[in-house]
Amino acid sequence: MKFSYCFDSHIHSDNSPDGNNTVSHICESAVEKGLQGITITDHCEVNLFYKDLYDRTVRQSCFEVSKAASVFKDFIGIFLGIELGQPLQDIAAAEKALTLGRFDFVIASLHNVRGQPDFYYINYNKENVYDLLDGYYNELLQMAMWNEFDVLGHLTYPLRYIIGEHGISVDMSRYDKIIDEIFTVLIKNGKGIEINTSGLRQKIGVTLPDEKYIKRYHDLGGQILTIGSDAHNANDVGAGIQEGMEIAYNAGFRHITLFKNRTPIRLPIYPEKMDE
Ligand SMILES: [Zn+2]
Ligand SMILES: [Zn+2]
Repeated sequence: MKFSYCFDSHIHSDNSPDGNNTVSHICESAVEKGLQGITITDHCEVNLFYKDLYDRTVRQSCFEVSKAASVFKDFIGIFLGIELGQPLQDIAAAEKALTLGRFDFVIASLHNVRGQPDFYYINYNKENVYDLLDGYYNELLQMAMWNEFDVLGHLTYPLRYIIGEHGISVDMSRYDKIIDEIFTVLIKNGKGIEINTSGLRQKIGVTLPDEKYIKRYHDLGGQILTIGSDAHNANDVGAGIQEGMEIAYNAGFRHITLFKNRTPIRLPIYPEKMDE
C-alpha cells in the first residue's frame, strides 16, 4: 500500500556548517524525488551562537528558505525550521535565535553535554560511555522541561557514534526510566519526538531512535511524531522517509506530524485509513 505523503521534516542546507548544498538545490532535489513538502532546519549551536556567527547564518537560512517557499510554491511545500543545539547551555541565545525568523518548526537537539565536545569528537571506551550517556539523558530531560520547541531531535544521538562508529555495546535498559520521564514531560506539554532516518544510512543501521522507543512513546500516549532524513546534501533529501513511515505505523501510529507556524498538522500514514 502506498503512503499518503512523503514529507521530510529535518534537512540542512549550506547555511549549516556541515551542510553541502544550497537551499534551491535542496528544493529542486525534493521536487525531483516527488516529495510533497520539506522543512529546512539549519543548525544553530546555541553554545557557540556568537562565536560561530550563528546569528548571521540563521538569518541567512530564514531569508533563503522564505524566498524558496515562494519560488517553489506551485511545486512543493517549503517550510522554515531550525535545529537548536544545546538550548540550555545559553538560554538567552536560544531565545534570541527564535526571534530571527518566523519558524514553522523547532527541533531541540543535544549534540554535546555541557562542558564536553560534540559526541562526534569523543574517544569512547567502556569506562566513559555510561558517564556520557548519564549526562546526555539528564540534560535531555532538562531540555524537555524547558519546552520552547516542537520536537526533541534524534533521541539516541550518542549511539550513532558509540555503537555505530566505535562498536561499543551499551546496556540501554539503564536509561529506560529516564527516557520514560522525558516522554512523560513531552506528552504532558503536547511536544513530540522525531524519527531521524540518518541512522539508516550510517553504520548503526537503525533510525534515531529505533522502533522500540517510538513504540514506547506511542504507548505512553505520545501523538506528535515527525520524520526527517537529517540530510546534509541534496541527494539525501527524502532518504528513509518511507521506512520511517513504516516504523511509525508498526509502532502504533496512524498519523505523522508536520509543523506549520509552530502548529502540528496530522497527516494520515495511509490514505485508506484516514478515519482511524
Ligand atoms: Zn542534530
Ligand atoms: Zn540535523
